[in-house]
Amino acid sequence: MPVLPPVTQDMLTLPRKLPEGGPVNLIGLTREGLRDALITAGTPEHQARMRAGQIWQWVYNKGVRDFAEMTNLGKDYRAALARDFTLDLPEVVSRQVSTDGTRKYLLRINGGHEVETVYIPDDDRGTLCISSQVGCTLTCSFCHTGTQKLVRNLTAGEIVGQVMIARDDLDDWPVPGAPPNQTRQISNIVLMGMGEPLYNFDNVRDAMKIVMDGEGISLSRRRITLSTSGVVPEIARTAREIGCLLAISFHATTDAVRDQLVPINKRWNIETLLQTLRDYPRLSNSERITFEYVMLRDVNDSDDDARRLVQLIKGIPAKINLIPFNEWPGAPYQRSTWSRIEAFADIIHDAGYASPVRTPRGEDIMAACGQLKSATERARKSRAEIAAEAGL
Ligand code: SAH
Ligand code: SF4
Repeated sequence: MPVLPPVTQDMLTLPRKLPEGGPVNLIGLTREGLRDALITAGTPEHQARMRAGQIWQWVYNKGVRDFAEMTNLGKDYRAALARDFTLDLPEVVSRQVSTDGTRKYLLRINGGHEVETVYIPDDDRGTLCISSQVGCTLTCSFCHTGTQKLVRNLTAGEIVGQVMIARDDLDDWPVPGAPPNQTRQISNIVLMGMGEPLYNFDNVRDAMKIVMDGEGISLSRRRITLSTSGVVPEIARTAREIGCLLAISFHATTDAVRDQLVPINKRWNIETLLQTLRDYPRLSNSERITFEYVMLRDVNDSDDDARRLVQLIKGIPAKINLIPFNEWPGAPYQRSTWSRIEAFADIIHDAGYASPVRTPRGEDIMAACGQLKSATERARKSRAEIAAEAGL
């Protein structure tokens, strides 16, 4: 890495226009954003790109969180950075480890809100399931997150911060000198935690660009899957501006049932959604769309449903991910029986589609799909329930 001359006193005394609110957090800024922040703080324009690149590598490639350790920057410059900026991540409130190795992190973000991030180790991969919002404005009737009223979009820093926190915990930062293809604990990312990622598009995009950047965490776009309930106007943008793989929370084969399960269907129905997917710019066999389908007993799990499903998606390179319903306290549905799930999977398989059944993971710590909901919210709910039971 080329070493620039140390910053002179002049540079440090340049007028600074930092916001009054104190030091600025650099985590989550795009490369351009980082460069602009440095310039605002007095770094000369002609040096800013190089400085931003150096800081970027320390933060996103090496996992360094202390400016003092950025030894290819001059000492005075490091001191100036420490005065003007921070490298803050959400606070880890708790970390639970399931008997199957799944880890769930409860994180507190600015304002005291909480979100969850789940790490799921497998033989051939390690998947990090990250959240994009606190709660969700949508109200899918089978989803625990959807019952949580409190909502705010996560910032790009809070989204990429989840990846960094998990890397810290798993000791997954590259070892200096190791080959670039060393085994990664976190090999895949799915945007399948709390929230609808396409209702927080810009922050999700910026965070994923940081994750994909070749000089940082450097995860391939093909190892990132964004799951949406079907926010049609943002789907094509996902291909253009992020380029990651797409999963659709499909869950029903008629509008009547999908209206109940995934109410956004009333806005963009099955036909509109499927047309958008047919037009998806990146669609190919190697980048198939995943159709997620939650198996709800006697609601959407009949043989007719399976047959309709394969008819509907005909012509779309796809795989179908069957998700046994994960129950949560007060849920109005039950999981389909295993024999029903198998019969459903067989019909899909016979029609030529891969139809993996997603094994529920981390159920003992409420870390499975759709079970995420912050602990404070849970506590609030249960207090409300107690009050209701007591007739208060
Ligand atoms: N909001 C996005 C991403 C988060 S949900 C979306 O809806 O796609 C991730 C997946 O878990 C979605 O397919 C969602 O429908 C599914 N899911 C939600 N609640 C579930 C539950 N209780 N059991 C099984 N899957 C669930
Ligand atoms: Fe929101 Fe997805 Fe849950 Fe629906 S399934 S309420 S879109 S998080």
